[in-house]
Amino acid sequence: MRKVSIFGATGSVGMSTLDLIQRDPDGYEIVALTAHNDVQGLAGLARQYGAAMAVIGREDLYGALKDALAGSGIRAMAGEAALIEAAQAGADWSMAAIVGCAGLRPTMAALRTGGTVALANKESLVSAGMLMTDAAAASGATLLPVDSEHNAIFQCLAGSSLEEVARITLTASGGPFRTFSRDEMRHITPDQAVAHPNWSMGAKISVDSATMMNKGLELIEAAHLFPIGLDRIEILVHPQSVIHSMVEYRDRSTLAQLGSPDMRIPIAHALAWPKRIATPCRPLDLACIGRLDFEAPDENRFPALRLARQAAQADGAVPTILNAANEVAVAAFLERAIGFLDIATIVEDVVNRYSAAVPRQIDDVLAADAEARAMARQVMERLTV
Ligand code: NAD
Ligand code: MG
Repeated sequence: MRKVSIFGATGSVGMSTLDLIQRDPDGYEIVALTAHNDVQGLAGLARQYGAAMAVIGREDLYGALKDALAGSGIRAMAGEAALIEAAQAGADWSMAAIVGCAGLRPTMAALRTGGTVALANKESLVSAGMLMTDAAAASGATLLPVDSEHNAIFQCLAGSSLEEVARITLTASGGPFRTFSRDEMRHITPDQAVAHPNWSMGAKISVDSATMMNKGLELIEAAHLFPIGLDRIEILVHPQSVIHSMVEYRDRSTLAQLGSPDMRIPIAHALAWPKRIATPCRPLDLACIGRLDFEAPDENRFPALRLARQAAQADGAVPTILNAANEVAVAAFLERAIGFLDIATIVEDVVNRYSAAVPRQIDDVLAADAEARAMARQVMERLTV
């Protein structure tokens, strides 16, 4: 029996993880499940899966969670300190699937236990960078990438040394607006932006896919997970999302990982690693798909790609600032406070105005994150008056 915890259990990745776990009920013991504010959803999952503890991120919802779990024997907990406590509560496999930099402290806490952390929460790695990979190395924790591209690269590397690698190609669907002109992007609504052509995901990452900031964040993520130098990590638009990424070795042999666009495939890989488990996912039917297309990414129509590459090159606190400004801008776009094209404009403005010292510890990362968020709100106010 593996002892597992799921951070962000009520979300898209969290629910996909539970879907796989539920197919083998004797294989797993659930230590902790967490959610931000969906008390009833969390309590229902905690009861269904027999979790030892359930944690709600919002401290003010403690009473509501306690009531919802009454008589179950499940420990109700709330707030960030409780998320950290849950991360250190004895799971040997944790899914980090909180969205945004909010997942940073719990993910770091899980990594410090030396267990296995399946990382979906790319924003935490983008923000903390080497502080996170160093923490994993120091504790001996295993960091398994869940993001489909990074999971694909991990699979294609199959334990090879990075010295053998000539190039990594991150594939990108191009999102719902792949063929749109800048002019056509001007009036995009949140409903249009969250309707991804291939993947079903949470709202924030769906908007990131539409601006292609998602691929930019993934570039930074890849640079930390697979440190071969930024100039050797490329982005390739591949609208069908069948090839999830590729590794080219120095002998010019290229390995690709293919599969239906279903997050349960990379999640299952991380859940079973180093073994394999069966999934209910659709087998790949290449004859039916018929063709695979590729095109170069367009940084003029999708400036988020350029901003993210520049941030990756600058490193230090710049990726932290980029990520924080993007989180604020995406939330504002989803609330219809700003337009689609404003997202990248705000991010660029904040990255240009604000600089912070190279973070030496997680507190520095969170301080830069908070400053950048405040600045993004100021920039937004100016934009909307
Ligand atoms: P989601 O919005 O569906 O779920 C997010 C989860 O995090 C929910 O359980 C929510 O309750 C919790 N949460 C949100 N804010 C929180 C906070 N402040 N404190 C504590 N918990 C909080 O998101 P998702 O699509 O499942 O994505 C989760 C992460 O995985 C993101 O970082 C995303 O980029 C990454 N990811 C997702 C997919 C996908 O297919 N959905 C693919 C690759 C990577
Ligand atoms: Mg991805």
